[in-house]
Amino acid sequence: MRVVSGIQPTGGLHLGNLLGAILRWVRMQDEAECLFFLADLHALTIDVDPAKLRANVREMAAALIASGIDPAKSTLFAQSAVPAHPELAWILNCTARMGWLNRMTQFKEKSGKSREGASVGLFTYPVLQAADVLVYQATHVPVGEDQKQHIELARDIALKFNNDFDVELFIPPEPFIGGGTAARVMSLRDGSAKMSKSDPSEQSRIHLTDSDDEIAQKIRKAKTDPEPLPEDPDQLEQRPEAKNLVGIMAAMTGETPAAVLQRFTGQGFGMFKPALADATIALLEPLRKRLIELRQDEAALDAILAAGAEKASALAAPTLAEAYRAVGLRQ
Ligand code: ATP
Ligand code: MG
Repeated sequence: MRVVSGIQPTGGLHLGNLLGAILRWVRMQDEAECLFFLADLHALTIDVDPAKLRANVREMAAALIASGIDPAKSTLFAQSAVPAHPELAWILNCTARMGWLNRMTQFKEKSGKSREGASVGLFTYPVLQAADVLVYQATHVPVGEDQKQHIELARDIALKFNNDFDVELFIPPEPFIGGGTAARVMSLRDGSAKMSKSDPSEQSRIHLTDSDDEIAQKIRKAKTDPEPLPEDPDQLEQRPEAKNLVGIMAAMTGETPAAVLQRFTGQGFGMFKPALADATIALLEPLRKRLIELRQDEAALDAILAAGAEKASALAAPTLAEAYRAVGLRQ
């Protein structure tokens, strides 16, 4: 079992990333060989501020370590430090079909109304993502629900490549999506949009770096409705914001939404929100303290990433060489 997954250094780590992906990565470290990377090449697909990106890579590395990723157990590196990723991505760009990429909903969401003005990189990003996992022969890719379609695309690319070139090179990876409500944490401002780093509204998400007061304030102002909480989770189906807050509580405490509702049945959000803020602060505060310490030693972070990149490059090299050979190059 080999686990590979990444996160874009496009902004600060938020509660959705943490519950949907990172805390699951942390748990998998003891069960499998794990590679985790900062998807800094992916971060180029939207507008780039070079100075900010440089700082964000270190900051995200510190945030992952603060959240429990242990560089002694897992290989932690920046994607751009391992050229095998973009090299394989080019080869796979020639395997993937336009029609497949046209169906990717994330491109539609991220390009918005300006499809013609979106970068080509944003369109082919899922192919680079396929290369990210295929180059390591990953068996499990722990991601949030929003990435399911991209992992399925990686499977299709792997199968087509193997078939086209009559090789058994790539392992079609499994999306490994957590159960329960953590898989899709929604925005605090809009129950129909997922919580994202790239959402322009700071109020839409809770960052690992938010102070206790900011966390409490964001939850207090989170969009809700005036109805009391029901006993039955099915009754939240038409109330996406309420459903999301109950889901976040459940993901943090490990309860089911039904168990959370049992504690709050008949109560309004005036009672629920302070309890949710307390639970969120209890989860994030120790991580934030570690992050503040870790980010001070930039040299140590750089050394961790450099060692990780060296290990990752060695693991990627044989598969990349096989891929070149399969298509008739470099032999
Ligand atoms: P961006 O807006 O830049 O795409 P993001 O918040 O979507 O940022 P990513 O770096 O794209 O974060 O994703 C990192 C991991 O976090 C992925 O595994 C993704 O599936 C997961 N993830 C992102 N948002 C959520 C969310 N709202 N709920 C659960 N998991 C999420
Ligand atoms: Mg994303």
